Amino acid sequence: MQAKFIKSATNLRDCPQDRMPEIAFMGRSNAGKSSLLNALANQKKLAMVSASPGKTRLLNFFDVDGKYRIVDLPGYGFAARSAEERSQWSEMVEGFLTARRNLVGSLLIMDIRRDWTLDETHLLEWLLSRDLPMAVALTKSDKLGKSDIAKRKSKLVSDLKKLNYVSAEVFIASSLKKLGCKEIEDFIYKSWIKDNRKVKVSEDF
Ligand code: GDP
Repeated sequence: MQAKFIKSATNLRDCPQDRMPEIAFMGRSNAGKSSLLNALANQKKLAMVSASPGKTRLLNFFDVDGKYRIVDLPGYGFAARSAEERSQWSEMVEGFLTARRNLVGSLLIMDIRRDWTLDETHLLEWLLSRDLPMAVALTKSDKLGKSDIAKRKSKLVSDLKKLNYVSAEVFIASSLKKLGCKEIEDFIYKSWIKDNRKVKVSEDF
């Protein structure tokens, strides 16, 4: 894909005001979200913008092929962060995920070696509150062998089943080895963008 950084926003009012469909990229800090975005776009430094100081707590918008946008959401799960920072994170992310009309899908990026936690459950609840579909990319798969990869994938699928979420597509990815990127890109386009080129945005947004 051809991707380019458009802008950062701190709140809903700052977000682009048009009918371009958007996909939210969500993930724990250090999960490999920026690396996956760079790998998808085949650029080394695209998501550096979001990693530069002061930009990690913003919503970062990227244009993809002039057809849709990826919105890189701030990472979560830094134990060192204060309670106030954590509540700012949830206010911003919950606000965006539940109210942003342009969203047509979401990708949760998880380090394949890490388990599902309450943080991910919160994200899923926000998505479910408005029926926004979610796919999962299990990244850093180059760090595991074949049988462990299969075990981690079925563990995730069974964790999702316990939450009654059975419709998530799960991708095995590695940004290092460029694995899974084509599949993720094709899935996003075919499932969420192709028939959704203009989002109905009500007057309030
Ligand atoms: P973010 O905080 O979610 O944006 O995570 P980053 O993309 O910055 O990645 C966190 C760390 O994991 C960095 O040291 C990356 O080099 C490493 N990393 C990311 N993706 C992969 C991958 O697919 N394979 C391997 N081996 N390392 C990765």
